[in-house]
Amino acid sequence: MTADAAAAPADPKPAPATKKISAPKDAEFQVAVIGAGFSGLCMAIQLKLAKINSFVVFEKADDIGGTWRDNLYPGCACDVPSHLYSYSFEPNPNWSRMFAPQQEIWDYLRACGEKYGVRPHMRFGAEIARCEFDTQNHYWKVTTTSGDSITAKIVVSGIGALSLPAYPKLPGIETFQGTAFHSARWNKDYDFKDKRVAVIGTGASAIQFVPQVAPKSKQLDLYQRTPPWVMSKPDRAMTAVEKTLFKFIPATQKLFRGGIYWWMESRVLGLAVDPRAMKLAEAWAKLYIKRAIKDPKLRKKVTPDYTIGCKRILMSDEYYPALTRDNVDVITQGIKQVKAHSIVTEDGVERPADAIIYGTGFQVSDPIGPMKIYGAAGVDVRETWKDSGTEAYLGVSVSGFPNFFLLLGPNTGLGHTSIVFMIEAQVNYVMQAVKAITKHRLRSLDVKPEVQARFNQKLQKRLDEAVWSAGGCQSWYLDEFGKNRTLWPSFTFEYWMRTRKFEPKKYTFDYRRG
Ligand code: NAP
Repeated sequence: MTADAAAAPADPKPAPATKKISAPKDAEFQVAVIGAGFSGLCMAIQLKLAKINSFVVFEKADDIGGTWRDNLYPGCACDVPSHLYSYSFEPNPNWSRMFAPQQEIWDYLRACGEKYGVRPHMRFGAEIARCEFDTQNHYWKVTTTSGDSITAKIVVSGIGALSLPAYPKLPGIETFQGTAFHSARWNKDYDFKDKRVAVIGTGASAIQFVPQVAPKSKQLDLYQRTPPWVMSKPDRAMTAVEKTLFKFIPATQKLFRGGIYWWMESRVLGLAVDPRAMKLAEAWAKLYIKRAIKDPKLRKKVTPDYTIGCKRILMSDEYYPALTRDNVDVITQGIKQVKAHSIVTEDGVERPADAIIYGTGFQVSDPIGPMKIYGAAGVDVRETWKDSGTEAYLGVSVSGFPNFFLLLGPNTGLGHTSIVFMIEAQVNYVMQAVKAITKHRLRSLDVKPEVQARFNQKLQKRLDEAVWSAGGCQSWYLDEFGKNRTLWPSFTFEYWMRTRKFEPKKYTFDYRRG
């Protein structure tokens, strides 16, 4: 050491250690899709068609199909005409009926998976537990319930709104000694012969399986809390001529699809434009009840006291005739208690039951299901929804959750027509975002909070006036505050127009190249 050096004043503070800034790491995948039902499969197909091959699809079950894989109850069929309830890019000229049965729809989805070569991208038996946005690397860490994880630049959740069965909380339900199962977890081995069957619920699923179960059972007691509006179902077999035309002159099938689309879309006039228009539909539905049911007591029981359309309008030609059978009773008294081998109603009547079938619908709490989604601030998406309510921009983007997209997110459900139309519009929108991120090598894009807030204010104002809120019923469309967080408030072509072009100005971008 030199004298000069020894004389130099000591540094007041040691120099800070240079912080090592590591370069952002690349994600393993460009896109991670969650779910292989109608929406996740559509996303996967469009990625493939766009030649974006760096993607993975996580599916908790062991096959493609979502709701059409899970709902195996007898009589399960679509209540939207199949030529519309299918992908526009994959028309099926061979639908056997106007409203195809479950197996055919499931086969269709599986065939789509094969045709477009997306199966190799799928990881079955992989349920996602959480997604966490890594702000250092600008990608998502996606972790399954078994603890495996991958990283992906973009996450698209297509988990569907109706996958988790809801079971009623009834006193004594745990003491029931007979067989009990939910419509979405059908017990195929159960033999109904000589059995007394209790069905709880009279929704879209129950009206399909009750006519199938009633003739096989000794007695069917149908526990109804709220009667649904039921209309005749214009179902029929497709003719050989139609199928041939559709196959060899595809324009004819397009025309047919278009006709169905506009017929279904006209319902919005009553549902959302002017609920008074529903009076006509109501008169028609009452006439249908009158024709189908002769017993005035039963007629009274099944006639709703709320505006038609407030809950999903159901369609069946078999439901009311099934209720008129000698071995079927419609019970409108509330359930007081379930015992080991019976059900007791509020009026004290006890009815024996060998089996209980829950037609009680699904847990529709939010579009995330049991997953945890931690955004840029490390906060779970549910926390951000605590104050605002469940909301997103166009039902697709949630502010603070960069590069994360929802399919069938808040307020993009439908009560009047094919949800596949909405799925395709959303996938088209998300694909444009994916392409923008990929092409411009963006680190991330995030919808502006004010854009999301403005969009939802306007949306809620329109919904307050629609029949789902003003029609005098309680339904799963409404949240605990009576706000409709489920349905799109208007024509689907409006949604299509709004999602046709991805609008960069509604988003903030991180341009730093990753
Ligand atoms: P849902 O329409 O929600 O019906 C559930 C039924 O269970 C209702 O009648 C409800 O009564 C009753 N319920 C619920 N909890 C109850 C309780 N604790 N005690 C007594 N009754 C109770 O369910 P879903 O029939 O399974 O249909 C769900 C959705 O799936 C439909 O809205 C539709 O979107 C879809 N779906 C579609 C098709 C199709 O063909 N496209 C077919 C089936 C289902 P309240 O009315 O009083 O609440």
